[in-house]
Amino acid sequence: AKREGKNDLRFFAPELNAAAVERLDLEIRLKAALESGALELHYQPQFGAQSGELVGMEALLRWSDPELGPVSPDRIIPIAEDTGLIVPLGAWVLETACRQAAAWGFRVPVAVNVSPTQLIRPDFVETVRQSLARHAMPGAALKLEITERLAVRDPVLAAQRLEEVRQLGVRWSLDDFGAGHSGVASLLHWPLDEVKIDRSVIVGLGQDDKVQRVVVALLALARGLELPVVAEGVETQLQLDILRSLGCETVQGYLTGRPSPPEALTALLGHSADT
Ligand code: C2E
Ligand code: CA
Ligand code: CA
Ligand code: CA
Repeated sequence: AKREGKNDLRFFAPELNAAAVERLDLEIRLKAALESGALELHYQPQFGAQSGELVGMEALLRWSDPELGPVSPDRIIPIAEDTGLIVPLGAWVLETACRQAAAWGFRVPVAVNVSPTQLIRPDFVETVRQSLARHAMPGAALKLEITERLAVRDPVLAAQRLEEVRQLGVRWSLDDFGAGHSGVASLLHWPLDEVKIDRSVIVGLGQDDKVQRVVVALLALARGLELPVVAEGVETQLQLDILRSLGCETVQGYLTGRPSPPEALTALLGHSADT
C-alpha cells in the first residue's frame, strides 16, 4: 500500500513544506530502488602517482530513478542516514563491492565509503566479516573510507570500532582530509592506514600558490605519521605533475579515470573477469 506519488503525499500531509515532501518522495523511491535491485555501484580507479600502476578502485553509489533521472549520492546518503535506510543500503554496498572484488580476483583493493551511522552500530563488524567470508575475500583486499564527522558524536566508540574492523585485516582511509569534516583530531586518535586529500583542496592546485603550500603541509602531516596519501579529484596534467613532484603516493580523478560501471574497468585489471 506504499505506492503514493508526490501528489498523494502532499494530500495526506498538507502541513509538510515542498522540501519535506520532496525528501519523503525520494525516501520512498530510494527504498523501493534498494529492494528492487535498481541501485548500482560504479568504480573509480586509483593509480600510483610515480608508477602509474592501478592500485585500487573506489566504489561509488549510483542511482537513476525512472522519473527523476540520476540522483547524486550527495543527496541520497543524507536521506538514508536520517531514515536509518543507510544500514541496509550500506550493507548492500559492502556486499556488492566485495562480490565485485572477488570477480576481479582481488587484483587490487576495493575501497568502500562508510557512513558514521553504519560504523556506530554494534553489528557493523559482523556485517563486514560476513561479506568478506561470503566471497572468501582477504581483509587486505578491502579498504573502508570514513570522515571525521563521526568523532564529533562519539570519539571513543569510533576508535574502538575502527580497531575491531582492522583486526580483520581491513584498512582505513580518512576521507575528505583538508575539508571541513576531516582534520587533525582523527589523525591523532584513530588507527588509520591512509589519508585522502579532498577534492576541494586539489581543485585549486596549479592555479594558486597558496593551495600548493597547503598541499605540501597536508602531505607533511601525513608523512609525519607515516600515512600514505591519496589525492582525490585530480583533473589536470599539471596537478598530477605537481603531486608527483611532491611525493604524493596515489592519485584518483577524472584525469586518470572517471567512475565507471565494473564492466568498463575489467580491461584495466589485465585479465577478463565477469560477475
Ligand atoms: P567522496 O567519497 O569524497 O567521493 C569522491 C567524489 O568525487 C565522487 O562523487 C566522485 O565521483 C567525485 N570525483 C572523483 N574524481 C573527480 C574529479 O576529478 N572531478 C570531479 N569534479 N569529481 C570527481 P560522487 O560519486 O558523486 O559521490 C559523492 C559523495 O557521496 C562521496 O564523496 C561520498 O561521500 C558519498 N558516497 C558515494 N557513494 C557512497 C556509498 O556507497 N556509501 C556512502 N556512505 N557514501 C557514499
Ligand atoms: Ca542492478
Ligand atoms: Ca570516498
Ligand atoms: Ca571527498
